Amino acid sequence: MLLTISTTHFPADDLSYLLHKHPGKIQSVDISAGKVHIFYPEVNQLKCTAALLLDIDPVGLVRSAGPKGNDFALEQYVNDRPYVASSFMSAAIAKAYSSALNGRCKDKPELGDVAMHFTVKLSVLPVKGGEDILRSLFEPLGYQVSATQHPLDPAFPEWGNSRYFTVELSNRLTLQQLLSHLYVLIPVCDNDKHYWVNQEEVEKLFAKGKDWLEMHPAKEIIVRRYLKNQRSLANQALGILLSKDEAEEAVENETTTEIATDVEEPQLRIHELRLHAAKDELLLAGAKRVADLGYGEGKLIKLLLAEKQFEFVLGMDVSYRSLEIAKERLKLERLPEKQLQRVRLIQGSLTYRDKRLDGFDGAALVEVIEHLDEPRLAALERSVFEFAKPTTIVITTPNAEYNVRFADYQEGKMRHNDHRFEWTRKEFESWGTDLAVKYNYNVIFKPVGEVDPEVGALSQMAVFSRRDVTVEKLV
Ligand code: SAH
Repeated sequence: MLLTISTTHFPADDLSYLLHKHPGKIQSVDISAGKVHIFYPEVNQLKCTAALLLDIDPVGLVRSAGPKGNDFALEQYVNDRPYVASSFMSAAIAKAYSSALNGRCKDKPELGDVAMHFTVKLSVLPVKGGEDILRSLFEPLGYQVSATQHPLDPAFPEWGNSRYFTVELSNRLTLQQLLSHLYVLIPVCDNDKHYWVNQEEVEKLFAKGKDWLEMHPAKEIIVRRYLKNQRSLANQALGILLSKDEAEEAVENETTTEIATDVEEPQLRIHELRLHAAKDELLLAGAKRVADLGYGEGKLIKLLLAEKQFEFVLGMDVSYRSLEIAKERLKLERLPEKQLQRVRLIQGSLTYRDKRLDGFDGAALVEVIEHLDEPRLAALERSVFEFAKPTTIVITTPNAEYNVRFADYQEGKMRHNDHRFEWTRKEFESWGTDLAVKYNYNVIFKPVGEVDPEVGALSQMAVFSRRDVTVEKLV
């Protein structure tokens, strides 16, 4: 496993001072899982490249205190660890480049603070969640990212892509900043079992991330993945890093991700997209009194309340816990009287006719229908379309076809343990069209998220408009 760091800063061979490694020698150090070799494939005043070759000893790995894995019997002998950048690479960086990582440069101390142009190449980096995640981790820190994804097996292109990337990162910064980013973010990309899992790691995370983590838009993912499987440590870290509001949100997210299966959807982003798509449709339809049916944590309600067009927003969810979380999230207790009159949260089930849902001109069901089994879905159809019959109804649900694009796709496995079904575009369109005909609505279908030419977008949306009501659309 190879990591190279190049600079064209003049004189480029200053890099060897910064790294405390002689440019004319090959040097080796031991880490628990194997050996690290450091050498310079090119060194002159115009360009200098330092290579760190991590040679993991697969047998040593089995004997060491590292992660064993328990996915299948021979996993501890047959795994990708020797061939990819993982938390072992961070250990290698910390050991081989320890002075540089701590910002010390013994012979030329002034160099430690100099921002230089660096290019880093990682020959094989596993990235759970794909290129989007990779970019969301490095781009906010100013990196230019170029990534080549490798197929699972070039002989069988139909198997699709693997989670392995060859990655090139360029940026202008100090070497200490660069190494601290790599130290934290390589295991975050990998998101496999890390060999570290103790209290000390929280401290290391803060030490390495002190100047940049707090401002990083993806800090929550970073902390959770870095402290993988250590929920209490992650919460502790988030408690320090995030503001109170953000921390509460993080804990709530955790309760939802807890029951999520391993199939990883770039959840945060796509979920934001769905919520905004639903809000935009309701705005466009000219709706003034709107209902969020199955509001979960109340995220959509928060977005809706920010729009003046919506005079009244009702949230209904079957779960009492949702009610408590949303109340807190929306700070209902602290809202000024006028705002408070615009919103109401109720507990109730969409599978029963409920008079409190009468008289709305817009309703959204964002990622709700797939949580209901067939008889309950039929009951929901009646209570929403036959009895409540809001003028516009926006429904979103996952597009099952897209699941093959997830890094750890398994046939038949759904995105969430609680999903009773996930539909293809055809299935959703057929369901929606029948419903529209039956209850006298027009319907159009839209993708949510970037559209893949073969399998469509991550999520799909149907917008129903009642035929017997003429609305002035706001275009
Ligand atoms: N719309 C939210 C939550 C989606 S999760 C969001 O996009 O973030 C599905 C939600 O539907 C959960 O909060 C669950 O409690 C709610 N739900 C499931 N069955 C329901 C029913 N019969 N009536 C009302 N809400 C229901």
